[in-house]
Amino acid sequence: MSLLRILTERITTTGPITLADYMSEALLHPTYGYYATRDPLGAAGDFTTAPEISQMFGELIGLSLAQCWLDQGAPAAITLAELGPGRGTLMADILRATARLPGFHAALTLTLVEASPTLRAVQATTLQAHTPDWLDSVHALPEQPLYLVANEFFDALPVHQYQRDGAHWRERMVGAQEGLLHMGLGPAAPQPALAHRLEDTAQGDIVEICPAAVPIIDTISTRIHDHGGAALIVDYGDWRSLGDTLQALKAHATTDPLTDPGTADLTTHVDFEALTQAARCPFTRVTPQGVFLERLGITQRAQTLAQTLRDAPLEAHIAAHRRLTHPTEMGNLFKVLGLYPNGAAPPPGLEP
Ligand code: SAH
Repeated sequence: MSLLRILTERITTTGPITLADYMSEALLHPTYGYYATRDPLGAAGDFTTAPEISQMFGELIGLSLAQCWLDQGAPAAITLAELGPGRGTLMADILRATARLPGFHAALTLTLVEASPTLRAVQATTLQAHTPDWLDSVHALPEQPLYLVANEFFDALPVHQYQRDGAHWRERMVGAQEGLLHMGLGPAAPQPALAHRLEDTAQGDIVEICPAAVPIIDTISTRIHDHGGAALIVDYGDWRSLGDTLQALKAHATTDPLTDPGTADLTTHVDFEALTQAARCPFTRVTPQGVFLERLGITQRAQTLAQTLRDAPLEAHIAAHRRLTHPTEMGNLFKVLGLYPNGAAPPPGLEP
């Protein structure tokens, strides 16, 4: 059996499924889902993320979160959490960078929200010394100050796509024919959730919505509102989505998202406006990753690290700095959104 066969049989019997259903199955099906079955990260995998490019990314995120903790009076019992921690590299760098901050490690309980059993096992090894707890969802996050990071997590959540038709919208649906999957369109209907998009779209435009992100932002922003803390959300995307941004990646190259479900990573651009609309605490401006990292001093940190390196490792380090920050690489495509409590300063590197 393959996931392609499971889905074509299901669609043939019960009709086309939404793109969101398709993405959920392709990424998280317990037997055949992409994340459920593999470690997709790094040179040998399908894609590389910022923490896998350089330790500087996690170090600077760690210092920003730790500064929020200090600014908020160094609360004695906090949750340090990550959504979708991948290999645990980002959290390991955060913990190393904050190890010498008096009281911080003693105050924190490390909590990881991770759907993939395979990646939980990798995280257990990477973060062994810090005895993490794992949660299936943010709803179980403890009622205490929450310092949270999510890098390339929201882009993996399932989205619905709609194509504009007059003042109505037709949902893009995944259908099946002769054992293959293809995109089609559902009937035209009004979409109250897209009322605001009638202003800035034209006939035939495609927009995406990610209902799964709403309760997640609602919960973490409620914890931060009620108990203090901060969240740093890093992802590719922009203020408002426009167009079909669904992308499938396999072995570092793009591939067709419907060809062989469960074997490629599927992502879409994050609609940061939608995240801010779900927030129940103050949020920062959406800031390009390159600007955020420069404000936190990545260039000085890069120079310090460079002094210990020579030859190929030095060249790789210089390339990694450029890759994280340069506007033509990840510097502009990736954005950072911060959440913080009323009356507190925003996380360092970000502005109200
Ligand atoms: N943050 C890491 C990994 C990004 S890949 C890094 O920057 O390297 C996306 C991560 O989110 C993976 O760990 C994946 O298993 C996890 N994930 C995807 N969808 C999820 C969901 N619905 N719930 C929990 N974790 C999820």
